[in-house]
Amino acid sequence: MTSVAIANIGELVSWADERPVRHGAGLVVADGVVAWVGDTADLPAADESIDAGGRAVIPGFVDSHTHLVFAGDRAEEFTARMAGERYAAGGIRTTVAATRAAGEEELTRLATARMAELHSQGTTTVEIKSGYGLDTDTEELLLRVASGLTPETTYLGAHVVPDGWTADAYVELVTGAMLERCAPHARWIDVFCEVGAFDADAARTVLKAGIAAGLLPRIHANQLGHGPGVQLACELGAAAADHCTYLSDADVAALADSGVVAGLLPGVEFSTRHPYPDARRLLAAGVRIAIATDCNPGTSYTSSMPFCIALAVRELGMTPLEALHAATLGGAASLRRSDVGHLRPGARADLVILDAPSHVHLAYRPGVPLVHRVLTAHQSHKL
Ligand SMILES: [Zn+2]
Repeated sequence: MTSVAIANIGELVSWADERPVRHGAGLVVADGVVAWVGDTADLPAADESIDAGGRAVIPGFVDSHTHLVFAGDRAEEFTARMAGERYAAGGIRTTVAATRAAGEEELTRLATARMAELHSQGTTTVEIKSGYGLDTDTEELLLRVASGLTPETTYLGAHVVPDGWTADAYVELVTGAMLERCAPHARWIDVFCEVGAFDADAARTVLKAGIAAGLLPRIHANQLGHGPGVQLACELGAAAADHCTYLSDADVAALADSGVVAGLLPGVEFSTRHPYPDARRLLAAGVRIAIATDCNPGTSYTSSMPFCIALAVRELGMTPLEALHAATLGGAASLRRSDVGHLRPGARADLVILDAPSHVHLAYRPGVPLVHRVLTAHQSHKL
């Protein structure tokens, strides 16, 4: 048994039912699990001890939407967009060409480096999608690389229709031979339901095939305009509908009734100059919200959850505490995980010690590296 006691926590955000935010706190980790939370004055003895020195401690971020396995760079496309060009889904094909040209070793090296980048900014649980292969061999390769980095892997063969294919023929591949090869390496199935990608019928076919193969559904929905994606997510009982930038009143009501988590990805609106989603409208309706980076080379090349929290506060109308909730517990709900995103006794001991007295600084000091130390369940086993 290895235990670690953290003393003098200025502000502890544990999301406990009683006192979700506690001041002057202490916390004990035993064998990689949170074993005790209370006042620092009552802190039990442990094998090792850490003095937080009045810093804030929060749960590690849960980034429920990334596309980390890819090669290539689309800085020129970003520059053009900032000069006024609009984003269209077709830019994905640029990354597909670079990804197909890279081998397993290069893709693993790139994705591992990006994981380290996420981790250094406080993210301890990450979802990773395929979707830059768009052929059976490469999609399977991307998922194998992803599953070396996280258990939360998502098969997104239906990202866009690749050049040289009709939509019908490609959906047949995605739901047939490609699914068969990819399903063993994936937990989730996803589809980009959007004009220029897949319509409602194609998206339904893709998700249903995935469900039949034992995968859990999630969806890219309502990013570029009012589309059918959110309603489809609710119809199929998906875990999450991500983007939710353009929503009708019926979409908001369906999300609230179904319990589908709305994944908001404000790095995308930042990088595409699209209007931001309205988090206040969702919160008022009782919709559960996750904040994620959507880290990808086209529309949101940020790996920083603190940056997305700052955007959520400044542009989506969330309070700092609501944004932190969405970036931790919200992400966990999006991934249907009860062991991460909080620091109640029994949780995985994935936590971040901030170089700040309060979580508010994540939004109040945007762009400033505020992660003092990241402790994960895995590391605390080794201490
Ligand atoms: Zn995405």
